[in-house]
Amino acid sequence: SHPIEVIEGPLMRGMNVVGDLFGEGKMFLPQVVKSARVMKRAVAHLIPYIEAAKTVDSKAAGRVLMATVKGDVHDIGKNIVGVVLQCNGYEVIDIGVMQSCANILEAARRERVDVIGLSGLITPSLDEMVFVASEMQRLGLTIPLLIGGATTSKAHTALKIEPAYSGPVVHVHDASRAVGVTTALLNDERRDPYVANLRTEYEAIRVARANNTRSSKLLSVENARKNRAPIDLTIPVPVPTFLGARTFDQWPLEDIARRIDWTPFFQTWELAGHYPDILQDPVVGAAARSLYADAQELLHRIVTKKLFTAKAAVGFWAAQSVNEQIVLYTDASLQQVAATLPMQRQLFAKGPGRPNRCLADYIAPASSGLTDFLGAFAVTTGHGVDQLVAEFDAQHDDYNSILSKALADRLAEAFAERLHEEVRTTLWGYAPAEELENSALVREQYQGIRPAPGYPACPDHSLKTTLFDLLDAPGRAGMSLTESWSMLPASSVSGMYFWRPEAEYFGVGLQGDG
Ligand code: SAH
Repeated sequence: SHPIEVIEGPLMRGMNVVGDLFGEGKMFLPQVVKSARVMKRAVAHLIPYIEAAKTVDSKAAGRVLMATVKGDVHDIGKNIVGVVLQCNGYEVIDIGVMQSCANILEAARRERVDVIGLSGLITPSLDEMVFVASEMQRLGLTIPLLIGGATTSKAHTALKIEPAYSGPVVHVHDASRAVGVTTALLNDERRDPYVANLRTEYEAIRVARANNTRSSKLLSVENARKNRAPIDLTIPVPVPTFLGARTFDQWPLEDIARRIDWTPFFQTWELAGHYPDILQDPVVGAAARSLYADAQELLHRIVTKKLFTAKAAVGFWAAQSVNEQIVLYTDASLQQVAATLPMQRQLFAKGPGRPNRCLADYIAPASSGLTDFLGAFAVTTGHGVDQLVAEFDAQHDDYNSILSKALADRLAEAFAERLHEEVRTTLWGYAPAEELENSALVREQYQGIRPAPGYPACPDHSLKTTLFDLLDAPGRAGMSLTESWSMLPASSVSGMYFWRPEAEYFGVGLQGDG
């Protein structure tokens, strides 16, 4: 038979079975992505014959453009959604990460796509998605816009993105929903009722939020400050073993791998449950075991062949707080300021005994006369990932390509955990006798915290610019920041170290500007 018939016949029938089983919850994401490898390899093999016969594939269920927005380097979720859509007969035009609005809309026009899917992981990407929506409106587009990624939400989509574009806008919660949403949007009978329903749902979210905001009152920063988090200033301040920054440019991967927290790895693949219990789960256990075995095998190869290089910059600075600011000094004489880090304070009214927290509260105030210290770190396990991914991509192996990135991310978090441990026991040395199992580290059963810019206690991503400068993260660890403060390589973590026992994570919440 003609090669196109092989693709549109048995291959598509096979993938439809996979797609249906996934839709029914009888098959899980890792198996779907693995199955797609068979189809992709077969298609790659057949393509030269199809092109020779000049047959055009017109049977696709629809064409979907996928992109990660400007300034954002993350693409695991986007790639998973792309594979799932392809398994269900959609043609996916994936233009990659860090795509400007102009690039996205130009590709959408050129490829005559039916749907645009935007992905993003960090909070600045949310604003960029609003911008793309407003540009689609300005240019008079009407095709549906799908929104996905870790910080995206139905609420943000309803409040900020949908009002910017009069075409259909849908928040896609995870890969398992992508097909259902796309199919409803591209089906002539289902489209209108589906979109009408969504609009009602999003409008209800906007109304609920408007009522809520009116009732929530924020304190002035002066009043909130009076209720700051107390710290015990009689505890002697532990002095770090060095001040300024230091490099670790080849931390052994096997020492990092033992600190991996596996639970988020299974979340990446949309398998719900905690490691290690998930391996015995009656529903997802078999899929989890198979995925875990594949992950262990690839991890073993990465570690023994040193395919990734783990690099870090870590540093300590003498510090004092002044209200919401942390002032860092070049040395303990406190003569020369190295940097000033502005922090935000919780402004919402708290119940009795509950402070209005600010990270600056965990540093001794200048008025105490004490010399306190703040640490900072930037770690990456991302050097070498692109090469491994390129090798798998050349083999049409999405499964191992995504697995490589997911493992690199796990290693980066594990490196942050391992380095923090080294800081507590040795480099800062305030907990020299600490010896914790991995499960205790995951539960953060140690003294001190390592808040990361962009997270709830310090949501301002631009803080990374100051930390990267202080640490010389580019020079020491080969790390850089995009215009949205996404870290490159993608598998990177950065943050600050606070040593005090009172230090805990919190969210600053609303700051008065919405
Ligand atoms: N074991 C997890 C660790 C990462 S998530 C993993 O492997 O994925 C936890 C990290 O997120 C913390 O170490 C801290 O760096 C950051 N974090 C969590 N909550 C935070 C908050 N409220 N403010 C600032 N950073 C926070």
